[in-house]
Amino acid sequence: MGGFDEQRYSRQTRFAPLGVEGQERLATAKVVIVGAGALGGAAAVALVRAGIGHVTIIDRDVPERSNLPRQMLFDEADVAAGLPKAVAAARHLEKVNSACRIEPVVADLMAGNVADLLRGHDVIVDGTDNFEARFLVNEFCCRERIPWVHGGAIGAEGRVLTVVPGVSACLRCLVPEPPAAGALPTCETAGVLGPAVLVVGAVQALEAIRLLVGGPRAGDRLLVCDLWEQAWRTIDLAPLSASGCPTCRGGDYPWLEGRIGGRPAVLCGRDAVQVPAAGGSVNLAAVAERLAAVAPVTANAWIVRARVEADIELAVFADGRAIVTGTREEARARAIVSRYLGA
Ligand SMILES: [Zn+2]
Repeated sequence: MGGFDEQRYSRQTRFAPLGVEGQERLATAKVVIVGAGALGGAAAVALVRAGIGHVTIIDRDVPERSNLPRQMLFDEADVAAGLPKAVAAARHLEKVNSACRIEPVVADLMAGNVADLLRGHDVIVDGTDNFEARFLVNEFCCRERIPWVHGGAIGAEGRVLTVVPGVSACLRCLVPEPPAAGALPTCETAGVLGPAVLVVGAVQALEAIRLLVGGPRAGDRLLVCDLWEQAWRTIDLAPLSASGCPTCRGGDYPWLEGRIGGRPAVLCGRDAVQVPAAGGSVNLAAVAERLAAVAPVTANAWIVRARVEADIELAVFADGRAIVTGTREEARARAIVSRYLGA
């Protein structure tokens, strides 16, 4: 059972709280990272290097030039190639550790697919940039009793919350309702520094390892750091987790049950809107043929793209989603999709 390259991991197994037994556990563990951007990329590199046996990487987008200062899994060639982030990430990570099974998934996490995509993993790592996905993950994990590690970074500030359902506070204990659009600063409005995100992603990876090998009790503490001010603190969440949260105490799952969410989403840090699939997956060859009548098309196995109007690029994914780049207006994005795809 298991088995790992003892020499390769000798500096880890010498760390007594991990030991050989802990390394064996990592070698058989299955971790999913939701989002392959800055946080998810940092966590993925650390976890694949640490010897996790199976790492699933879910991402809905493609790398852009403005991602390169902080998204360490991608380089300029990936931006030029236009591969999905999940696929490009897997190609880099496979070179790092051939013993780790890396599974890329090009998809947007939604109520309709969250169970299929996350089920069967031992720990879930949040590398997302939006509250819709985070609430969905939180509810799924609370229902299925799977631990997960929430992370966020903005400017030079970061936060990490490890959620052990039934034991510690969950995301909804901390944030009762997702903030309204525009209510909080985003990496678009406040910017973000690469090293701050690396810190948060690294802490998330360590939390995942700690959860897997049964380190000291996790949870009920929120780590908040302001790296520009050199300030680190942990906030005790025990009073919150005792407060009767509707989700982790009451079994209320509005996002998971599709009562909230599923609308077009303006992508964080992008001049782009994602429009959900109208039906199921699409035939990309047929889409490419249709768009080729309008504008030159670039296509690969996952995405078809065309600059359909002077300021608008339309990208269609095999799962039926579209990303409209060049606008931040949901209505305009929907209109573009229906104009060119008839969805
Ligand atoms: Zn809760």
